[in-house]
Amino acid sequence: MNYAVFGTGVVGRTLAAKLATQGHKVTIGTRDVERTLAQTDSEESFAAWSAAQPDIALATFADAAATADTVVNATAGTSSLAALRAAGAENLHGKLLIDVSNPLDFSRGMPPTLDPVGTDSLGEQIQRAFPEARVVKTLNTMNCSVMVEPGLVPGPHNVFLCGNDAEAKERTAELLLSFGWPQDALIDLGDITAARATEQALPLWVQLWGVVGHGNFNFRIQQAD
Ligand code: NAP
Repeated sequence: MNYAVFGTGVVGRTLAAKLATQGHKVTIGTRDVERTLAQTDSEESFAAWSAAQPDIALATFADAAATADTVVNATAGTSSLAALRAAGAENLHGKLLIDVSNPLDFSRGMPPTLDPVGTDSLGEQIQRAFPEARVVKTLNTMNCSVMVEPGLVPGPHNVFLCGNDAEAKERTAELLLSFGWPQDALIDLGDITAARATEQALPLWVQLWGVVGHGNFNFRIQQAD
């Protein structure tokens, strides 16, 4: 498969690296390729990471999406719509758009606030803005290390997905299985309006992170037979 992974942060890098090790063609999307590669000031810079990942290309959001069959949105939630608009609706048309972002606003410090919240979600905003894209919200309720290596958390635990397009959710489920998620770990929450629920789990996740002291934990749904 040919993936465009939007996002040069830790989540985009983690997902891109996992997809590349699985043999997929991967291009990371960014606003400005030259500017992103020019930031060489630290070991964590994208340039340093990218130099060790020769199989992963870097392109503008539009160029990355143009040739991809699947787009993964791992951009800052407050800027995801801007990133996707920069990609262009024509480059998202008919494509599976896996959204792992969260609309967290850190501008007032910690803990972050959610916007939108309550009667809307970023997943829905993306689907409304790009009606021809097939948006599936998933993986946003856990740390990115756990996304691609669920075994980091011992025992059963769950990953949620939601979206309007059944075939898009099936393809996303196949991807999750390929990451090592057992079939019975997947919980389909329904259409894209369920993104409200998973995005609104983030304040709880952030609070738990403070209590647990690390990010390698996850939600487990235990039910009576
Ligand atoms: P991030 O710092 O939240 O986002 C970095 C990306 O956002 C970059 O690619 C950047 O583009 C893009 N961006 C920032 N401002 C922009 C703007 N004004 N217009 C267009 N694009 C813009 O990265 P992250 O920490 O890896 O998180 C990515 C997403 O995953 C977030 O929504 C986060 O809430 C979600 N998430 C994170 C985790 C986790 O483990 N950290 C877990 C679950 C979900 P440039 O490349 O051009 O700079």
